[in-house]
Amino acid sequence: MLVDYILVGQGLAGSILANHLINAGCSVMVFDDPLLSNSSKIAGGLYNPVTGRKMAKTWNADNLFGYLTDYYPKLQQQLEADFVNDIPIYRPFISPEELNEWMGKSADIDYSSYVQAVHNSSAYGNQVSDDFGGILLNQSGFVDTGKLLEASAKYLDEKESLTKGYFNPADLKFEEGYTSYQGIKCKSVIFCNGHKSLEEQYFGWIPLRPVKGELLIIKTEENLRVIHNRGVFVIPLGNGVCKVGSTYDHQNLDEKPTIEAKNVLVHKLNELVKFPYEIEYQLAGVRPATKDRKPIIGQHPEFKSLISFNGFGTKGVSLIPYYAKQLTEFLTKNKDIDSEVNIERFFSLY
Ligand SMILES: Cc1cc2nc3c(=O)[nH]c(=O)nc-3n(C[C@H](O)[C@H](O)[C@H](O)COP(=O)(O)OP(=O)(O)OC[C@H]3O[C@@H](n4cnc5c(N)ncnc54)[C@H](O)[C@@H]3O)c2cc1C
Repeated sequence: MLVDYILVGQGLAGSILANHLINAGCSVMVFDDPLLSNSSKIAGGLYNPVTGRKMAKTWNADNLFGYLTDYYPKLQQQLEADFVNDIPIYRPFISPEELNEWMGKSADIDYSSYVQAVHNSSAYGNQVSDDFGGILLNQSGFVDTGKLLEASAKYLDEKESLTKGYFNPADLKFEEGYTSYQGIKCKSVIFCNGHKSLEEQYFGWIPLRPVKGELLIIKTEENLRVIHNRGVFVIPLGNGVCKVGSTYDHQNLDEKPTIEAKNVLVHKLNELVKFPYEIEYQLAGVRPATKDRKPIIGQHPEFKSLISFNGFGTKGVSLIPYYAKQLTEFLTKNKDIDSEVNIERFFSLY
């Protein structure tokens, strides 16, 4: 069998990269062992242009959001599924100073397209604690990542481009002009294997810094029309079901829910919301984060037909589409990969 590219992993990175490569006229074979990682399956799926405790525009926001707001709706059409939810994020202010800061900042040309409204008094006071008002963000929402992965698997399966099972890098063979894996010949093998890369022989050296995260699924009678986000996010999935997250743990890197994380989430949730709710269940996964919080993309320093598409950390939903396009153009048009995300910045570690 002959394909242009083999992809290892069908999380968000593998799914979205496969879509870009297929749309560019390339053939792919994606290997995925569904038992190996939960990150993409359980993620909150938020895309949020203004993030962090200091509420700053997220890194590279103009490029990332300029592309993703167009890309996801098109992907929905192509996969014939419904997984994009373009709804505002509401972030209550914690002090009059924060309100003042945003009154000024929202007029700033750099921020104005991401701000729908700055409320100088309580706007959602029946749902959350927002005595000092809050900010309503634009170009935000969430992707139901579970549905996206399912639709992508179906699409790839119909094209006979998906193999469910473990990809064993030890079976790779490097021949003159091509690379082969268990009888499949290709130009390159692209590793979209998330935090599992650390256990893998070719890219185990890239500086990933995995972070475990946990979420709660709750049920409420309250009708939420925005995503509330302060300390935790509360994403309305429909029918009163909400996703609440998330936690950050660098030490314990299994994918099992813990009572400690549940307590942290409940505490933060109770500080934010005023409505009653019931906890349905809990989810856990490990994010493929990196030390400098930027993705790691490009060719292996020694085995040039091996490529890393990894390190999407806490923001895979916003980062992956833009960089899938960039990697596709690198492979098919010989265009450059941005130096800030290029694997070359870590070659000294190899
Ligand atoms: C609790 C939590 C909340 C999150 N919330 C958000 C959010 O709100 N917004 C956001 O943007 N991001 C969020 N994230 C982060 C997001 O999940 C990641 O950025 C993204 O999913 C990474 O995707 P990936 O495809 O690179 O990795 P993964 O999702 O880990 O996918 C890797 C895939 O490779 C497969 N694989 C690995 N090795 C092999 C092998 N040898 N053979 C076959 N298959 C293999 C795995 O089974 C898996 O399917 C969250 C993560 C967690 C844990």
